[in-house]
Amino acid sequence: SRWVYSFGGGGADGDASMKNLLGGKGANLAEMSSLGLPVPPGFTVTTEACVHYYANGKQYPAELAQQVSDGLATIEKITGKLFGNVANPLLVSVRSGARASMPGMMDTVLNLGLNDETVEGLARLSGDRRFAYDSYRRFIQMYSNVVLDLEHHMFEEILDDHKDRLDIHVDTGLSADDWAGVIKDYKAAVLEQLGRPFPQDAQEQLWGAVGAVFASWMNDRAKFYRRMHDIPEAWGTAVNIQSMVFGNMGETSATGVAFTRNPSNGDNRLYGEFLINAQGEDVVAGIRTPQSLTKIAREEMGDTVPSMEEAMPVVFAQFKSVVETLERHYRDMQDIEFTVEQGKLYMLQTRNGKRTAKAALKIAVDMAAEGVISKTEAINRVEPASLDQLLHPTIDPSAQRDVIATGLPASPGAATGKIVFDSDAAEKASAAGEAVILVREETSPEDIHGMHAARGIITARGGMTSHAAVVARGMGRPCVSGAGDVSIFPKEGLFRVRGREFKAGEIITIDGSTGEILMGSPKMIEPELTGDFATLMGWADEVRRLKVRANAETPLDAKTARGFGAEGIGLCRTEHMFFDDTRIAAVREMILADDEKGRRAALAKIAPFQKADFVELFTIMEGLPVTIRLLDPPLHEFLPHTEEDVAAVAQATGLDAGKLLRRAKELHETNPMLGHRGCRLGVSYPEIYEMQVRAIIEAACDIAKSGKAAPIPEIMHPLVAKGEEMKYLRDLTDRTAKAVLEEQGIAIEYTVGTMIELPRAALRAGDLAANAEFFSFGTNDLTQTTFGISRDDAGKFLGAYIDKGIFDKDPFVSLDQEGVGDLIRIAAERGRAARPDVKLGICGEHGGDPASITFCESVGLDYVSCSPYRVPIARLAAAQAAL
Ligand code: ADP
Ligand code: MG
Ligand code: MG
Repeated sequence: SRWVYSFGGGGADGDASMKNLLGGKGANLAEMSSLGLPVPPGFTVTTEACVHYYANGKQYPAELAQQVSDGLATIEKITGKLFGNVANPLLVSVRSGARASMPGMMDTVLNLGLNDETVEGLARLSGDRRFAYDSYRRFIQMYSNVVLDLEHHMFEEILDDHKDRLDIHVDTGLSADDWAGVIKDYKAAVLEQLGRPFPQDAQEQLWGAVGAVFASWMNDRAKFYRRMHDIPEAWGTAVNIQSMVFGNMGETSATGVAFTRNPSNGDNRLYGEFLINAQGEDVVAGIRTPQSLTKIAREEMGDTVPSMEEAMPVVFAQFKSVVETLERHYRDMQDIEFTVEQGKLYMLQTRNGKRTAKAALKIAVDMAAEGVISKTEAINRVEPASLDQLLHPTIDPSAQRDVIATGLPASPGAATGKIVFDSDAAEKASAAGEAVILVREETSPEDIHGMHAARGIITARGGMTSHAAVVARGMGRPCVSGAGDVSIFPKEGLFRVRGREFKAGEIITIDGSTGEILMGSPKMIEPELTGDFATLMGWADEVRRLKVRANAETPLDAKTARGFGAEGIGLCRTEHMFFDDTRIAAVREMILADDEKGRRAALAKIAPFQKADFVELFTIMEGLPVTIRLLDPPLHEFLPHTEEDVAAVAQATGLDAGKLLRRAKELHETNPMLGHRGCRLGVSYPEIYEMQVRAIIEAACDIAKSGKAAPIPEIMHPLVAKGEEMKYLRDLTDRTAKAVLEEQGIAIEYTVGTMIELPRAALRAGDLAANAEFFSFGTNDLTQTTFGISRDDAGKFLGAYIDKGIFDKDPFVSLDQEGVGDLIRIAAERGRAARPDVKLGICGEHGGDPASITFCESVGLDYVSCSPYRVPIARLAAAQAAL
């Protein structure tokens, strides 16, 4: 088999399409070489060789040695230098390069092939002893660290000792003899540490480095990175062996990095840095301050050190034309590494550059306008999930940051406010017009009002899918979760972090995009939803088939959703309207009532509020469809539980404490998720659903009569399992609606449907469709009931399942397309068979998850519904799914 592919000398065996085999770096080196760009010649050992190595007890393929030797011979022919030769030594770099770029996997080894003899050859050849010794000491340092696994600081200390003794402060101040002294000590240190000398044989050095690249594929950093980015271990890494060019050969030599456009804001201007008389990592390592590439960038920085454009105008002009060629060729912004050796330019790497969401948008829209890419490609260039970064205020990058502590970036955006430690305080302060940050050990459903009132949330415990994180993302509140260094003392009204103390009322800021908690109120930048954002969204809307709705019940959420382009409400959870202070008393009275008559009396008190809610929602939604789910949670959720709470409620409402407590105990369920909830409430207490239907229809009539756009209420029954259940609920709904319409003397349109959230409902969708005009897949519950996993308890064991590869992803975040997805497919099929125009949507958390949206498109759903802040993400994901 073939394990080695050469590049250089104006051609190459491979090309850019061969990333799987050659890795990203190797494939692009081949491509640049074929384009006729100046690439130092070299060859790539394939990823398959790495896979073979691990599949065969860390043995190289039998043919590899010969093919590597042939590859070296090809480089020797092109360069006219010889590997390991004393008079005319060829030096190479050994560079890792996986399919996907994996920063921090392995450091490159430069100047390989140097030893005590070849260094003299290099000195004679270059006429520069200092350069030769500088290169050799770099090599010993890198090779010892990367291949021999010796600590960096050992070498740093030796170098510092020398500098101190010589009273020299910069590396460039050391002479050839000074470096020779350093090298002597380096080698002695290696001998002492390893009990064997630093390898002098070039072949031994080469195979040592190749082995180290392969080994780095399995180091902890690489494994961690792969897990974070879903990169399969089976891919393996390639190794690139390339002849060295030298940026450290004096004032006409340099090394640098460039982006063809600005990766943070997308500006169409060459952006980057370079260093004269330097090699490889010096630019990023921050040993010296790098210089600007262009004159204009230098001037903007107020820098006096000349830019590359000024210092090396001829090479710069050539470089500029090369990078333009590359961007045109790859039709995307490029991230480029280059070196200048004595006035001659060499290209060492190019790849599609990583960029912020803001830059991705601008570059996509600009390139489409420039005619470089099509609108369709522009739509595909932006990662839908990344839009989240743009929908929230952010901290001005130039602002001072006093970071107190760091947790997980649980919900993006930045927020400033006064510290509060409990949800009631948050609500009170917010009602008084104050901005607050809610700081909690962790949050629970009882904190919803506080989280809503707060500008941002911090929790000391909990992960990315903790209650706080999920709810905050849903609400669009910035959140930092799991800030383990924060110790909270709510009773004393303070929290401590590593000796610092922060009291309630002090101003802090959180950055939910980075997980940072900061002191004070740094300057913020507001999100900008016009310009490029609006343009790309417009293009997305032209191509998508799926409609996008929002899950919203408050006027604020509904307005936010419309601002983000929602085309209706896919889920209005009416129980959220019951928790309000003014209503909860009537709700509790209803629950405590001894009979239907008592319940009806209490419901009559709630009805006007409920109707007013719907009037407001319908008004905001201006004729767009609104799906209203009738009461869903078990009634005990509305009652106080602890004796303390019961006493407080009894006092405030005049309800009997004993009775409250007794009723709470009666309503207690072992398994409330599968208990007396959903439409089971409507079946056992039809008067509750009747009140809700009446409120909905009356509200719609009011709007219609006032001459505003008439809403299309979609009345949705939760947790239906059987056709008979649906028929009962349908009759109840129609009967009630008919009565209202007769009273009101007008006709309005409404539809009746159900959530599909039980496997039986999905399987018997045909039965349900007989009486349901729409299905909304409630995939939160459907996931729970399909797996038999409670979402609230999954945190305890899901981690182990993901670690052991049993689950790829949390099924509550990204839809389980195999199992839950099958049920959706079956339900859609059987529902349509019974009622061809049954309307189908999804309203679980998954409605805002791009991968799940792609699935919804493939099943042919009519719409997805998600939290308001996810609407733009869903619009873009739906467009990509349709392409
Ligand atoms: P990374 O993947 O970490 O960027 P690279 O393999 O690109 O590692 O190497 C890092 C740097 O080393 C390059 O940007 C370049 O400056 C330098 N380098 C690599 N190979 C050579 C070479 N053949 N000649 C000169 N410099 C090189
Ligand atoms: Mg690189
Ligand atoms: Mg449900």
